[in-house]
Parts: sequence; structure tokens; C-alpha cells
Amino acid sequence: MVLPVYVYGMSVLRKRALEIDEDYENLDTLIADMFETMYASEGVGLAAPQVGKSIRLFIVDASPMAEDDPSLEGFKRVFINPVILGEHGEKWNFSEGCLSIPLIREEVTRQTNVRIEYYDENWELHEEEFDGIKARIIQHEYDHLEGRLFVDRVSPLRRKLLNGRLKAISRGQVDIDYRIVYPKKA
Ligand code: ZN
Repeated sequence: MVLPVYVYGMSVLRKRALEIDEDYENLDTLIADMFETMYASEGVGLAAPQVGKSIRLFIVDASPMAEDDPSLEGFKRVFINPVILGEHGEKWNFSEGCLSIPLIREEVTRQTNVRIEYYDENWELHEEEFDGIKARIIQHEYDHLEGRLFVDRVSPLRRKLLNGRLKAISRGQVDIDYRIVYPKKA
């Protein structure tokens, strides 16, 4: 089932998400729904807070980008209770977007490499290192679990210039073809 995407202004996007355990109810369904939602809105990553669940879970599937970057072929993963163990390498800029901040893209600076520990959908523990676009997607999604958004990482000036568009998004004034949840006016 395709779920509506919570957009900028929803408080769930600003909370630090909580760990889950193996007893978390209907986890398989949630993961399947998140993949469906991500594909329907043409994203390459989606974190649980973006569908209104404040839990430490995100998914990625960058295979649609494999045409341009063959190393991304088959990069499809479920990250449960992930912990970033370290980031290193040079800082580089990449134009990021987010399903919760539709139609806005901004250059964000991050390090090239990330080392992460996580459980997969079968509750097997992994420790892996990623670089380049893979690391970038993971860093972006992990931020969601910490209540951070990529617009927090742009310069104060750029952020100021974005304010009007961010406000419009939080009022639901955005022309996209996936369902969204935005704050109701009191
Ligand atoms: Zn995002």
C-alpha cells in the first residue's frame, strides 16, 4: 500500500526516532509499504518518520540510478536501528532532494565515507562501509532518524532564500503527484 508522505512542517520529522525490537508489530508490512511508497514517488531512500512513524528504520534502493552509476546496481537495503560508527574522507557537495521537501534541491556538503552498523529485515546484524552516492543516501536517511533535514545543512543565506517555498510546502501548496500529509491550520 502506498502511504502518504509527511512533509516539511510535520513535527514527526523533527523528533529523534526510537529504536525498535523484533516484536514491533507488522514490521514486514510497514517495510513493504515503504518500498511501494518510495517507488511511487520516485525516491531512492525513505525513512520511517517520512511516513509518520518515529522509529529507527530506513530503506534505500538506488538501482534506478544505476544507469548513470553502475556501482549502484542492486543497492537495495533495509536499515533497522542503524548506528553510524564513523564518517571520514573528503568533504564533497552533492545536490540533495527529499520526498518530504518536494521540488527543492540544494547542494549539501558531507564526507565521502560512512561506516554503519544495522540490522537488516531478517534481524541480522551488519557492519559495513559505504562511499560516494551510497554513503550520501545513507547519511541523508540517517539524518531523518535524528530529526534533521538536508535544508538544515545549507548556508544560512540559502536557507533564508528557501523560507517562502518551505512555508508553502508546510501549507500543502506544492504541485506533486504523490499524497502528502502537512500540518493542519489551527
Ligand atoms: Zn529525505
